[in-house]
Amino acid sequence: MLTNAPKGTKDILPDQIYKWHFVEDRFRKICKAYGFKEIRTPMFEHTELFQRGVGDTTDIVQKEMYTFDDHAGRSITLKPEGTASVVRSYVEHKTYADVQPTKDYYIIPCFRYEKPQSGRLREFHQVGLEIFGTPDMLADCDVISIGHDFLDEMGVKDVELRINSVGCPKCRAAYRKALQDFLRPHYDELCETCQDRFERNPMRILDCKSPEDQEIVKDAPLMLDYLCEDCRKAFEEVKDGLTAMGIDFVVDPKIVRGLDYYTKTAFEFVSNKIGAQGTVCGGGRYDNLVEEIGGPATPGVGFGLGIERLLLLMEANGYEIPEPDPLDVFITVMGEKAKLKGLDIIHRLHLAGISAQMDLMSRNVKGQFKYAARLGARYTVVIGEDELDRGVAQLKDMDSHEQTEVELDDIVEELKRRTR
Ligand code: ATP
Ligand code: MG
Repeated sequence: MLTNAPKGTKDILPDQIYKWHFVEDRFRKICKAYGFKEIRTPMFEHTELFQRGVGDTTDIVQKEMYTFDDHAGRSITLKPEGTASVVRSYVEHKTYADVQPTKDYYIIPCFRYEKPQSGRLREFHQVGLEIFGTPDMLADCDVISIGHDFLDEMGVKDVELRINSVGCPKCRAAYRKALQDFLRPHYDELCETCQDRFERNPMRILDCKSPEDQEIVKDAPLMLDYLCEDCRKAFEEVKDGLTAMGIDFVVDPKIVRGLDYYTKTAFEFVSNKIGAQGTVCGGGRYDNLVEEIGGPATPGVGFGLGIERLLLLMEANGYEIPEPDPLDVFITVMGEKAKLKGLDIIHRLHLAGISAQMDLMSRNVKGQFKYAARLGARYTVVIGEDELDRGVAQLKDMDSHEQTEVELDDIVEELKRRTR
């Protein structure tokens, strides 16, 4: 136990980290292009934030949160998702008083106590973003297009954009009643979780993964048929916007999303290439969340995208993430004096921004050469006693095997020139 990471967590090892850096760097770039700035919120929040924000009838709050009391008896929860914290921060710092909209993005670990499987972990990572302050459906289109462009840039080709409208509190009441009326005769056949949802949150029954329940809801009434004029118009605007950008989508009236806060637009990017955990990105509009958390009524829209699932998809699509540059320079030394000279040169190479290493394990010369090859050094510099006496070093290009004698005083400049 001591030497196993907790169930549902994974080390990201140094030889794999380049993939994460790649995905994160590209996400940062795209966000920047769209005018978003990064926000970093704490890894944990007051439990109440998620109960209120995510909704206490959701699976996340009821079953999946990592909640504990701190030493002063406060109930604390590790972030199960990103939006609630960003909203809390927006209210706390009165960001709504600035020029709107506010555009934030984040790269975060999330924690959910779930049954681990491929693409489903207990600690996972998300990139995500939020736009606050505008009811305009252009913002929804903006957010969806970022998700689309990012997945496209990451070589994910087979993913389907599914959109829906989950309405607003005004039109949802009538729908809720219609849905309950439809489900009531089947109540006893529903799974236990959905029986519980029947009163608390009946729309979530549409999203149940049990095949029996899916069969029952097959002909259930749909929110889209109950939208009020305002929500109906908004949904048309989103579809028009996506069409104008040439972004393909399908309307999926069964998307309800797992979080309570959504209003109007709800969307998912789904792939069938990575098994059951096919939803790589989910998001939508949440026009009441800021007010719910204690701020002034402020609309918002955003998404979260799972990095682990994205990496699985990139692999399934055969996308080759470029491996990082190997080492620029390895310095092989013979004798104590050469060692000190090597240390001085390596220090100057580092100051010049060139990656350079020398042996730290007292290897003999042959061992040093083998080690340099293993590190994939582009150049090796050899300083032996004879070289040191003559004030030179042997510089070897490991690709062409060409060897040149270079003055020790010039070696840093020469390597700067070659590695530029
Ligand atoms: P699912 O239906 O697969 O449980 P979800 O609706 O709970 O997903 P969201 O809360 O919308 O997911 O989170 C956004 C994204 O975060 C998901 O689309 C997915 O890529 C990722 N994600 C969610 N839960 C996990 C998890 N346990 N492990 C890995 N990634 C996850
Ligand atoms: Mg889930």
